[in-house]
Amino acid sequence: MAIDPDAGLRAGAACERNSRGRRYPEPAHPYRGEYQRDRDRIIHCTAFRRLVYKTQVFVNHEGDHYRTRLTHSLEVAQIGRTVARCLGLNEQLVEAICLAHDLGHTPFGHAGQDALNRCMQPYGGFEHNLQSLRVADELEEKYADFPGLNLTFETREGVLKHCSKRNARALGDVGIRFLERLQPGLEAQLANVADEIAYNNHDVDDGLRAGLLTEDELRASELFRVYYDEIAAGSARSDAKISRRRMIHETVRAMINAVVTDLVETSRAALEEVQPADIDAVREAGRPLLGMSRDMLRRHRELQTFLHASLYRHERVLAMTRQADEIVTGLFECYMFDIHAMPKTHARRAIDWGEELGEAGRARAVADYVAGMTDRYAYSAYRRQVNREMEPTGLRM
Ligand code: MG
Repeated sequence: MAIDPDAGLRAGAACERNSRGRRYPEPAHPYRGEYQRDRDRIIHCTAFRRLVYKTQVFVNHEGDHYRTRLTHSLEVAQIGRTVARCLGLNEQLVEAICLAHDLGHTPFGHAGQDALNRCMQPYGGFEHNLQSLRVADELEEKYADFPGLNLTFETREGVLKHCSKRNARALGDVGIRFLERLQPGLEAQLANVADEIAYNNHDVDDGLRAGLLTEDELRASELFRVYYDEIAAGSARSDAKISRRRMIHETVRAMINAVVTDLVETSRAALEEVQPADIDAVREAGRPLLGMSRDMLRRHRELQTFLHASLYRHERVLAMTRQADEIVTGLFECYMFDIHAMPKTHARRAIDWGEELGEAGRARAVADYVAGMTDRYAYSAYRRQVNREMEPTGLRM
C-alpha cells in the first residue's frame, strides 16, 4: 500500500509533491518517499562511514568518548528530528540534511579545513560546505547511471549552508539563493540551528571530560551557570550527593532542553505570524522563520564565544591544530608535486582535470583526495610520504 509521504506536514514544510526533484530523474520507489531515499543513500555512502574517524574538536585517538564527526552528525539529526516533529516539518528531509551536512569535512576538524583552504587559495579555495555538496553531487561512486548520490534539490539546498558569491554563480540551481538573498526551506534552516545547538553543548561536555575546561570557568556562561547552579543546589539539599559526571550530564541535558524548547516556541510563533503557504513563500520570507528568541540567542552566542576563547584556542588544542596544519599542507604539496603518489583513481582525475583546467584542475583532484581522508589515514599517509618520524600530538602530553 502506498504511504503518503506528505501526510501531517504543516503549510510551508517541504513536501514531495512540490519537490524540485533530482538532477537525474529516477522512477519513484514503491514504498519509500524521496527524502527517505536521500537519507538512506547518505547512510550507505562511503564518506558517511569515514566520519567515524574524523575529528570534531578532539582527535579520534585521544579517547573513546569524545565526539567524532559521525556522533556529532547523529546528535544534530536527533535534535533536528525532535523539532521537526513538534513543528510539523518534514522529519525525513531534516534527518537527511543533518546526516549529510559534514560529509565534506577534512581530517582534523577546522584546523584541517583552514589548512586546505590556504593551500587551495590560488585555485579557487576550499569550503567545507561546498565540499559536502561536492561529495553528494560528484565524488561518491555508487550508481551506474549518474555520479554522486543524486539527492533531491531540497536536501542539496540544505547541505549548502554557506557559499561564496563566486562559487554560487558556478553552482546553478542551489547557488541562486546566495545571489538573490533568498532563504532556504524550513528544514534546511532547522538543520543549521540544530548543528549549532549540538556542538555548543557537546563541546562543553567534551571540554570538561578532557580537563580543558572547568565548571568554574564555564559558569562565566549564563546558559551553563543557571542550570549548573540549579542542579548543584538540588544535589546539596538531597541526602545522596550526585557525582560530578552526573552533574555535568544533567546540566548539558537541561541546557539542550531549554534551547530546543525556546527554538520550538519561537519558531512556532514566527510561522503562525507569517503563515507561509508553501516552501517558496518560506524562501521569499525575507528572514529565517526558524530560530531562537533574542534572549536565548544571546545566551547561546555567549557560550559560543566562551568556547572559542577557552576551548578552541586552548594551548593543547592549538598544538593539535599546528600538527594538523603541517600534515594537510605537507600532503597537499607532496601530491601536487607527484600526483602518482595518490591512488590510481585520484591520479587519473588529476590528469583528466589537469588537461581540462590546468593546474587548478590538478589541485582540485588533490584537495578532494586529502579532504576525504580520515585523521588516521592522513597520519599514516604523511608518515609514509613526508615525515617518517612524526608522532601524533595528543591531549595527554
Ligand atoms: Mg556540524
